[in-house]
Amino acid sequence: MDFRLTEEQKMLQNEVRTFALREIYPHRERLRKKEFPRDIFQKMVEAGYAGAVIPQEYGGAGLDNLSYALLTMELCRADAGIGLSIGASQSLVAKPISMFGSEEQKRLWLPRIASGEVIAAYAQTEPNAGSDVASIRATSRVIGDGTLTINGEKQFITNGSIAGLILALVRTDEYDLKHPRKNLAMVLVDAQKALAEGTLKVTKDFDKMGLHCSPTSSLFFDNCAVPESSILGDIGQGFFIAMATLTGSRPMIAAQSVGVAKAAFDEALRYTLERKQFGQRIADFQLTQSKLARMAMKIEAAELLTYQAAWIIDNVNEFFPDAIMAKASKAKLFASEAAEEIASVAAKLHGGMGFMTETPISWILADSRVLSTYEGTSDIQELIIAREFLRPHGVRI
Ligand SMILES: Cc1cc2nc3c(=O)[nH]c(=O)nc-3n(C[C@H](O)[C@H](O)[C@H](O)COP(=O)(O)OP(=O)(O)OC[C@H]3O[C@@H](n4cnc5c(N)ncnc54)[C@H](O)[C@@H]3O)c2cc1C
Repeated sequence: MDFRLTEEQKMLQNEVRTFALREIYPHRERLRKKEFPRDIFQKMVEAGYAGAVIPQEYGGAGLDNLSYALLTMELCRADAGIGLSIGASQSLVAKPISMFGSEEQKRLWLPRIASGEVIAAYAQTEPNAGSDVASIRATSRVIGDGTLTINGEKQFITNGSIAGLILALVRTDEYDLKHPRKNLAMVLVDAQKALAEGTLKVTKDFDKMGLHCSPTSSLFFDNCAVPESSILGDIGQGFFIAMATLTGSRPMIAAQSVGVAKAAFDEALRYTLERKQFGQRIADFQLTQSKLARMAMKIEAAELLTYQAAWIIDNVNEFFPDAIMAKASKAKLFASEAAEEIASVAAKLHGGMGFMTETPISWILADSRVLSTYEGTSDIQELIIAREFLRPHGVRI
């Protein structure tokens, strides 16, 4: 077993770290505003990050999942909000199009995402359907002339109000209590066209504790007409595509969490080496050293689980078996909870300053809170992990 990154991966890591320190880190205070930073996004486009996972033949960089995890860690170490905006577009939309899209869909959308012309959003969650994905009620009906109409509400959609493309999970027939996963489809919606026609409305941009620069929106589809050719995969494959998408994306939330945990550790290290009490630096106290040591250990464990999950998705040519879903969930569960804990300990190491909104550690702590919630809460990750070893014994999860 070789734990070393390749020379190419190390170069990518260094390049993104340098980029993030130069183009994102100095703007952290501005990124606390509820405003998407188009200038910084444009710089990320120019650096090739908006097409990171998109195959080269469609204008992207064609990175594998492990390299993409490295990129995500470095961006999110500088600012998790900007990292999420890029990440949602890549992991939740560009990847499923690459995996399940027709040639026409790939040619239509992937080069536009890679060039930054289009930012993409993934619309699965609804006001009454969060963890219970199969209970979504937004509908899509064929109206006869090769057109579908979409109706319904989506909530908490990252990039929702800035999206040029929305990948929406919809129900193609009545909700069937016995078979809720049936009759679901993923549909690609040209958001700018739908907004111009008034069949898509952004009804809200949420105010959040953290990740301020990443818009989180409510969307309303009102007889939104799209060509039938906009269905990703087949009608009826929606739930499967959603699960495959989330399994592929969870290692990236784990990578985001590692980035946030490292940012918290950076702040803790800097502060404990500066701040003096009882005539010495607080880093000179063994109790502080113990805390820093545990933070460093958890970061490394989270990093290794993330690498493993990303590597497995790169190297095993199936994405749905329980064992692979469990690997992605273990990485996401451990890394997200570690990030929240590390950010909390780092804030405590800042004493009273850690509670002040002028300190970067308070921003990082706020950002860390959501990592164990989106793309499946920790409870849901635990169920996925348990399923791997309980299903063979007839336990239904
Ligand atoms: C900032 C942000 C960005 C997001 N971006 C997107 C996006 O781009 N696209 C998108 O579609 N969604 C997005 N989401 C939605 C996110 O994925 C959901 O919030 C998440 O899946 C949880 O759903 P919920 O909020 O409805 O909580 P609920 O499902 O109502 O859960 C509430 C609580 O109940 C627990 N619970 C639920 N079911 C069970 C169970 N079976 N066993 C034990 N406990 C359970 C949960 O763990 C949680 O603690 C985003 C959310 C946030 C906060």
